[in-house]
Amino acid sequence: MARRKKIYEGKAKILYEGPEPGTIVQYFKDDATAFNAQKKDVIEGKGVLNNRLSEFFMTGLGSIGVPTHFLKRLNMREQLVRACEIIPLEIIVRNYAAGTMSKRLGLEEGTALPRPIVEYCLKDDKLGDPLVSEEHIAAFGWASQHDMDDIVALALRVNDFMSGLMYGVGIKLVDFKIEVGRVYDGDFQRLIVADEISPDSCRLWDIETGQKLDKDVFRQDLGSLSDAYTEVAKRLGVMPKQATHISKPTLIN
Ligand code: 5GP
Repeated sequence: MARRKKIYEGKAKILYEGPEPGTIVQYFKDDATAFNAQKKDVIEGKGVLNNRLSEFFMTGLGSIGVPTHFLKRLNMREQLVRACEIIPLEIIVRNYAAGTMSKRLGLEEGTALPRPIVEYCLKDDKLGDPLVSEEHIAAFGWASQHDMDDIVALALRVNDFMSGLMYGVGIKLVDFKIEVGRVYDGDFQRLIVADEISPDSCRLWDIETGQKLDKDVFRQDLGSLSDAYTEVAKRLGVMPKQATHISKPTLIN
């Protein structure tokens, strides 16, 4: 088989040219990084779990009419996605204070916010993904005002969907990050949710116990990251077949 052309390798994923023009194969690695890659490890099975979970969230979003890049899952670690022009912003939605917002504003982790708050960071590892305002985004031309209206609407729909889904399995969606890409249908440009949605890019806390079930487990050395992600996958009914309980053999008549 011909070797596929690698388009890009990031911290947690590799992108390859897809089989059809306008498609990309997204490969989920087991690598975990935090603090702008100052902390690194390989967590066996993380890529498989994130591939499944991202498929689950993106498919669910698609079914309620939120456009995403997801086309289909190809295997345990790969999914086929629609190629798009990634807007160079991390779009963060917060329901409760945590992480950098807690530090920046001196808010206790877990403080409920008066309403969901949308923030933007410039995607630039060298600069440590700095927080930017809509003024910066417009002035430097990273996105237009019209794009920003669409981005906020998309982000809030993702928030409502993900919050409800998580609430149903006893998990609080504290915050999350998405990326958005442009696609062109003829002369029309549309924005779609791209990259991934997984416990790598969300903060997820058990509603009863407050236990963290996301990448903070790795960032803060709180235990097994794969156990945390497996717990999320189990509660949502998303588990790779080989990792689920193996039932006894049954006789086929
Ligand atoms: P914070 O700004 O508090 O570090 O992150 C807010 C939310 O966005 C968290 O859920 C965090 O996981 C996510 N997030 C922020 N930056 C990144 C990033 O570079 N990669 C990923 N995967 N998630 C991020």
